[in-house]
Amino acid sequence: MNLLVTGGAGFIGSNFIRHMKEEHPDYTIVNLDKLTYAGNLDNLKDLENDSGYHFVKGDICNEALVRHLLRNHAIDAIVNFAAESHVDRSISDPGIFVATNISGTQVLLEAARAYGIEKYIQISTDEVYGSLGATGYFTEQTPLAPNSPYSSSKAGADLLVRAYHETYGMNVNITRCSNNYGPYHFPEKLIPLMITHALDDKPLPVYGDGLNVRDWLHVRDHAAAIDLVLHQGKPGEVYNIGGHNERTNIQIVELILERLGKSKELVRYVEDRLGHDRRYAIDPAKLQAELGWKPKYTFETGIVETIDWYLGNESWWRNIQSGDYRNAYDNRFRQP
Ligand code: NAD
Repeated sequence: MNLLVTGGAGFIGSNFIRHMKEEHPDYTIVNLDKLTYAGNLDNLKDLENDSGYHFVKGDICNEALVRHLLRNHAIDAIVNFAAESHVDRSISDPGIFVATNISGTQVLLEAARAYGIEKYIQISTDEVYGSLGATGYFTEQTPLAPNSPYSSSKAGADLLVRAYHETYGMNVNITRCSNNYGPYHFPEKLIPLMITHALDDKPLPVYGDGLNVRDWLHVRDHAAAIDLVLHQGKPGEVYNIGGHNERTNIQIVELILERLGKSKELVRYVEDRLGHDRRYAIDPAKLQAELGWKPKYTFETGIVETIDWYLGNESWWRNIQSGDYRNAYDNRFRQP
């Protein structure tokens, strides 16, 4: 199979490409990535000399480039990870989220239609469902009710993907996952931010009262789920992917501090994010029943392995901290 993976230099896309290379070494993978602040070729250094892996720096909004890649590499399937993905950035600069997440998706869909691509997979998010109360889970039937510019741009893209199935009969799937964690996670996101700040004895910024709940999914379990959907997903279906690992933000922060032997005094509560959704929790029953997916990691095994990965790969995250990335994630969290 010849795969076009977009956004493959980011966190989840790079873990997916590594998973696919391990599980399907004969597949050819073309990785189209614009290399925004979140794209990092160091994530896939080990594949540089693999003749079945090709990196192309470019924008999914570039229609001519996308069509050229589909034609030249005889692409069978597209897996679209490319996105502006950080909620805080979407609050300060929503425009780029509409351009990449919605218009970029439409360019990919139209090119896929023109070239008769066999399968198109859209990597979406549970955030399109909005926020939950203290109980209940998001299922594939939950109405879309996005609250941030990020999640509304992802919901817009999902509706286009759905429309290409309904209107043109394209073989598409949408996957909606909960918060991912694991190796190569950009240090502005909660878990790596807390690990790297704790290692440097810097304050750990926690939004609001720290009681917002997220449902954590190990990125390699996510990659395995997408692999299943790619090969066995029924045309037009949406699949929720989640690990049944609900934790409050403060529980995660305290767990990291404990594992690293650091004091809870490093915690600083900061002003809450605008429109901060209280709770997300995914029901992955459909994926489990229809495609037989089972996560390999529990949160307890996954978080320990992740902390150890950051300890063992200090040069990877220090490199990010010392580059242009620095302002981006320092400005995100002003200390009171
Ligand atoms: P990321 O920010 O780490 O990576 C995104 C990648 O897309 C980067 O490599 C970036 O350079 C690339 N990119 C951005 N704009 C592009 C463009 N116009 N053209 C080509 N490439 C472009 O994101 P991630 O955390 O790996 O998320 C991947 C996907 O999964 C996204 O679609 C996101 O919405 C979704 N998702 C992520 C999570 C999570 O917990 N990280 C949860 C749910 C859904």
